[in-house]
Amino acid sequence: MNTVFDVIVIGGGQSGLATGYYLRRAKLNYLILDDREERGGAWQSAWDSLTLFSPAEHSSLPGWLMPRSEGPFPTRKEVIDYLTRYEERYGFPVQRPVRVNNIERQDGMFRLITTKGDFYARTVVAATGTWADPVIPDIEGREAFKGIQLHSARYKSPETFQGQKVLVVGEGNSGAQIMAEVSKYSREAKWATRKEPEFLPDEVDGHYLFNIATAKYRAEKEGKPFDRSKYNLGNIVVIPSVKEARSRDVLRSGGSFTRMYEEGVVWEDGTREAFDAVIWCTGFGYATSFLRNIARQDAKGIVKTDESRATEAPGLWLVGYGGWTGYASATLIGVNRTARQTVRQIEEYLKHTEAQII
Ligand code: FAD
Repeated sequence: MNTVFDVIVIGGGQSGLATGYYLRRAKLNYLILDDREERGGAWQSAWDSLTLFSPAEHSSLPGWLMPRSEGPFPTRKEVIDYLTRYEERYGFPVQRPVRVNNIERQDGMFRLITTKGDFYARTVVAATGTWADPVIPDIEGREAFKGIQLHSARYKSPETFQGQKVLVVGEGNSGAQIMAEVSKYSREAKWATRKEPEFLPDEVDGHYLFNIATAKYRAEKEGKPFDRSKYNLGNIVVIPSVKEARSRDVLRSGGSFTRMYEEGVVWEDGTREAFDAVIWCTGFGYATSFLRNIARQDAKGIVKTDESRATEAPGLWLVGYGGWTGYASATLIGVNRTARQTVRQIEEYLKHTEAQII
């Protein structure tokens, strides 16, 4: 006989653990499946120098504060350590490595088809993040380029590019941070962006951004006006390495290119320029393809939701993917609210569907 869980959470990163916290409190019969060997979710794959945008006291999951970090912002290692200890502290039932490949509806419940056999649940929470779905734009000639191509999802440290001529593509935080450090090791580094990079004021950190996002969310909910022009939340956060690179005047955009050729890129004005390596800091989609049989999704992997609840797929929730699954839900500080609300809704749903399952 197979166990039928009340809830199976797919993904054991920060979002899966925050959801686990509330499931544990609700005393539901749940399981977390994660496809990695080790704890810490996507933070294991991030580049070595990546830090949080906010101090530890503003970056905690529910129940247990993140310990104070050595520097002003917790490092990648400190975040992994926190997530590891958080998981141990609450003894969440996480099985690793188990990859969910597909889900089907069967007899009023979900059958999860995984690398370790089938699992059954009455509800499912997808918390698989974005890291597993790096996006590289479809640029003409990309296949012909003979140099190194790397997405930021696989980038680790700048030493690899010692003495090379490197092109960093993308005007977001990843592009700025990677450009800042690669420019110190490479023979020459250029930054390709589709629009002029925009920086937040130096004093703005992640906690400040979270407060702005909260004010925006409340104003929208209450139908009150909100001055969107104040800060564009997507602009670059000026962390110390970005500030230092800006003072070296390396964070200048070279504009955008229209296509690639064997040696490099062709800039918009038709000039060709050769590079040894191209680092794509061009963002992520959403790692939700395993939901294809139970929920329609667009090309980026977005499923129709009302906050985290899938509106066209009863019994399914999505946590931690970004604004479309709950404001600021892709951050440690923001996922708490979404996780709590999700588990409340699951409890309600289970009460009302009990009769059908038995
Ligand atoms: P993940 O950490 O990706 O966890 C999902 C887990 O699910 C992973 O272990 C994954 O391997 C697993 N998985 C995926 N598919 C499957 C499957 N089919 N079956 C089973 N398991 C699966 N966040 C902050 O909170 N604060 C910050 O200041 C911050 N700064 C950032 C700065 C930059 C430049 C970048 C790029 C990111 C930053 N982040 C920050 C974001 C953070 O890295 C991610 O958003 C976060 O890891 C998302 O957590 P998650 O639990 O939703 O997903």
